[in-house]
Amino acid sequence: MSKVLILDCADYGFVEDKINSVFEEFPREWDGKKVLVKPNMLCDRSPDQALTTHPSVVMAVTKWLLDAGAEVIVGDNPGAYGRQANERCARGSGIADAALGCYKNIANDGVAVEINSRFSDRLVVSREVLDADILISLPKFKTHVLTQITGAIKNMFGIVVGAEKGRLHAAANGYRNFAEALVDVYQIRPPDLALMDAVVGMEGNGPSSGNPKQVGKIIASDDGASLDAVMVTMMGKRPEKIPLLKFAHERGFGEIDVSKLEIIGELETLEGFRMPSTFSSHLFGRLAGNRLVRFFIDPKPVILADKCKSCGICVKICPVQAMTMKGNIPEIDRETCIRCYCCQELCPNDAIELRRWG
Ligand code: SF4
Ligand code: SF4
Repeated sequence: MSKVLILDCADYGFVEDKINSVFEEFPREWDGKKVLVKPNMLCDRSPDQALTTHPSVVMAVTKWLLDAGAEVIVGDNPGAYGRQANERCARGSGIADAALGCYKNIANDGVAVEINSRFSDRLVVSREVLDADILISLPKFKTHVLTQITGAIKNMFGIVVGAEKGRLHAAANGYRNFAEALVDVYQIRPPDLALMDAVVGMEGNGPSSGNPKQVGKIIASDDGASLDAVMVTMMGKRPEKIPLLKFAHERGFGEIDVSKLEIIGELETLEGFRMPSTFSSHLFGRLAGNRLVRFFIDPKPVILADKCKSCGICVKICPVQAMTMKGNIPEIDRETCIRCYCCQELCPNDAIELRRWG
């Protein structure tokens, strides 16, 4: 039976104690082991915006592992592609400093691996992922406009290096396909332990444009799907309704029926938790068919010219080249756009909004 530990943690000042409890609950041999710690390092925003794993969680985990004699690497391949983006996100999120000298730019050495997937037969992942004896995932409790949630399963997308992520986005076009592709990535190397920063999470249009939400928990499991099922239940939704979790369960990657889990701690639903604006259209899409949803119901990215700083990041990361700079402002080719929302996720100025009409 999968076990999920839910610990109260009202603020980040209590994290160190909670991390000790997690490692006591999930014991294993650490001494001399190569451990990769993989936070959610999405972008270079400050920790109080709740986009990335809080540095105090990264620091407490790293310190515990070093004390236990492990050889630790802290690294991720964040949403913003490229080696320099990796360094920038690590510094800006506070994760590089929190890693006690163990941060490594894992975008520097990619290895092509074969995968069992409808969307690609190979993917380039960081060598450190393949070399690790033990992999610890540190996801953030957040919503996601494309996949509805981002937790332990989605966090493993960060093992994929650079532009390979865009290639998979383009190949697995549509939210259900992309959910399946994420499970394909997860199968390459499921984490041995997932430890979620749910002290302050995110609701609404996550993973980057939602609002911070006080949750007050640290949640941990050695079954990533079960951990995510607990998160979804806390969000007030049924885990089997989230395609990402349904696919993961069907593929044998964990239990998502919370009644079948050993839960240590209180599993409570958060009052009035807000899912992304895409939640209802995805639900309708499952009834009506993806094609109809894509063109008529799913929200579209819209550029807010008054907020745009003309940095060109969105144009660079769009996986299907649907964006071009027209003067100082990007323009989106609606026919080409696959509604992956990468542009909205990675715009550093909140200058891209999702709108159903207009
Ligand atoms: S990423 Fe945002 S700020 Fe930069 S060009 Fe695109 S819309 Fe403008
Ligand atoms: S325009 Fe934005 S939502 Fe559309 S395909 Fe490009 S990155 Fe994805």
